[in-house]
Amino acid sequence: MTVDSVPLNTGAKLPLFGLGTWQVKDETELTVALRAALDGGYRLIDTAHLYQNEHIIGEVLHEYISSGKIKREELFITSKLPFVAHAPEDVANCVESQLKALKLDYIDLYLIHCPCPFKHQEGNLLPLLEDGKLVFDEKTSHMDTWKELEKLYHAKKLRALGVSNFSAKQLEELYNQAEVKPSNIQVECHIYWPQEHLRSVCKKLGVTFTAYAPLGSPGRKAARPDGVWPEGDPLLEPVVQQLAAKYHKTAAQILIRHLTQHGISAIPKSISPDRIIENISTFDFKLSDEDMHALDTVPTRIRLFIFDFAVGHPLFPHDDVDETTTPKSGFKLH
Ligand code: NAP
Repeated sequence: MTVDSVPLNTGAKLPLFGLGTWQVKDETELTVALRAALDGGYRLIDTAHLYQNEHIIGEVLHEYISSGKIKREELFITSKLPFVAHAPEDVANCVESQLKALKLDYIDLYLIHCPCPFKHQEGNLLPLLEDGKLVFDEKTSHMDTWKELEKLYHAKKLRALGVSNFSAKQLEELYNQAEVKPSNIQVECHIYWPQEHLRSVCKKLGVTFTAYAPLGSPGRKAARPDGVWPEGDPLLEPVVQQLAAKYHKTAAQILIRHLTQHGISAIPKSISPDRIIENISTFDFKLSDEDMHALDTVPTRIRLFIFDFAVGHPLFPHDDVDETTTPKSGFKLH
């Protein structure tokens, strides 16, 4: 299956589809999934320091590259800076450790994972907790971090830079100040949270857009059983089910095609080889304008990722979430 792509402002191409790897830390599970994905035509792999799986991905990438099955330049690896490593003195060390784990000389797209910096413990990158709560790093601005990333971009270790979970305002502020302009933003995006305003800002700036949780992240609650997770399952939405029957596709395939047809890169996670193939098998059909419109206008609107652990942070991105609307949970990210 050939995957469409869109140009980044660096001249590179962003595949409109790839494999998400959040919540997959088991070596066998992830190795099986990655082999199924790479054999099935996936070239974009999305990871992050926070996912604690870059070393497993690195082994499989090395296996495919060293055997000549895939050339490095055919791959598109995205990774992310953890929210505890925004301080300028931490950025390069963190990226170096990720390159080493991934067994790569460069990362194709590197994102600031979360707009809210937090402090880490002395001597490691584990979050610093006081009274069981994360401690804000109020000293480090987005530009302080970005300038360090720009150095790594110029050193060709990071081939494109971007952000994740930033608001439209935060993205635009960074864009206006940055020497190396952000190439991509990765945020929650699916039929229940379509991000129209942010998408229009990205279009204006020429910033590409990646949808995380494209299926509504049905397994999200396992990540933090104590966290605040609003209910909602786009896979069960009646219009999605109807279109699946009409196009002889699955609900997941309808949700993925809806995004990629909008020029949005979708990165569904799966550890099942069958679903991995199902999810990429979405570039051989087109939804009609009328059906795209039906998916664009489902009445339900729900943000599924609240980032409750960061509510109250001075750089908290979401205007629609605050301490009065969100019961703050205990902190546990893994
Ligand atoms: P998702 O991709 O919307 O959903 C993944 C869930 O759907 C898994 O439980 C998976 O189960 C299931 N699934 C996969 N294919 C399916 C299919 N064809 N039919 C039915 N169920 C299916 O959610 P996500 O993992 O939260 O998001 C995708 C990726 O985005 C992540 O893995 C990560 O790489 C990235 N992400 C980034 C951020 C960020 O802050 N930047 C946040 C969240 C996610 P099985 O594995 O059992 O198939």
